[in-house]
Amino acid sequence: MRTAVSPLSLLEPRSVREALAMLRDEGPLVPLAGCTDVYVALNFGTSKETRFLNLWPLDELRKIEVRDGVLSIGALATYTQMIRSPLVRKRVPILAAASREIGGLQIQNRGTIGGNVANASPAGDTLPVLAAAEAVLVLKSAGQTRRVPFNSFYTGYRKTVKRPDEIIAAVEIPSVPGRQWFRKVGTRAAQAISKVVMAAVRAPRPRIALGSVAPTVIRLPETEALLAAGGSIADARETLAREIQPIDDLRSTAAYRSWVSGNLLERFWSETA
Ligand SMILES: Cc1cc2nc3c(=O)[nH]c(=O)nc-3n(C[C@H](O)[C@H](O)[C@H](O)COP(=O)(O)OP(=O)(O)OC[C@H]3O[C@@H](n4cnc5c(N)ncnc54)[C@H](O)[C@@H]3O)c2cc1C
Repeated sequence: MRTAVSPLSLLEPRSVREALAMLRDEGPLVPLAGCTDVYVALNFGTSKETRFLNLWPLDELRKIEVRDGVLSIGALATYTQMIRSPLVRKRVPILAAASREIGGLQIQNRGTIGGNVANASPAGDTLPVLAAAEAVLVLKSAGQTRRVPFNSFYTGYRKTVKRPDEIIAAVEIPSVPGRQWFRKVGTRAAQAISKVVMAAVRAPRPRIALGSVAPTVIRLPETEALLAAGGSIADARETLAREIQPIDDLRSTAAYRSWVSGNLLERFWSETA
């Protein structure tokens, strides 16, 4: 007999409603979107999870549309979808730019914005974009829909306010008031996790967000305030250095990350002048 006995189980809801009921009644379950992060952990044996909920077929979570002036991106929207979306390219070009630099084509076809956000890596490339754009996350459970400002979603390294019975249903992005700027610094252009990644908006009160320099993606409120008040870029660099907490790890060093973050700030400021 040819067979395999697997300790893993996969629930296959046919609608979001059914998925949320399964999370409530049969949890704990790990939601699966494109699986590009989940499979890595399963293959390396670092995930002990055995019960999964397959969201991938739920097309209702895949829409990109504008509602009441707000861009709504379904959590299952892939990078390829965002790169191709005229709405994303027009309203948040830095999200399309970030999507183009994530993984290779295979990852762009499978990886989703909801997965990037829920995975909660400080190196996730869409996260500084969502922080600078002041996005709002739509979290759904069987009994409730709640909206959480993206900048309050992470509470620590890989920790979020999302409950186990909730999914991320969509990311909402209001109009972004000013010139947008994005830069990823990695070992090479594609297939490399960021050493530092910055997204920023040049507005009267600039918005500046950095990834890979702290336990979570961060905004730089003091640097933003200094620049808004007309402070010099040299002073802004010094303030930025105090606001980040980079570490040495296998991808880079704290010193390099700190220096490059300052360079990116200068680039942002001169290129959007
Ligand atoms: C070769 C390779 C290259 C990569 N390159 C990059 C890169 O350059 N930049 C980058 O940022 N990332 C990169 N990644 C990481 C990964 O592709 C992204 O984080 C991707 O967006 C994850 O999305 P997913 O749909 O595949 O998530 P999944 O793997 O399906 O899920 C990831 C996590 O999020 C949870 N989750 C997923 N969707 C939801 C939801 N709607 N609600 C609640 N929880 C949810 C899952 O339970 C899981 O914990 C790379 C990965 C690989 C394998």
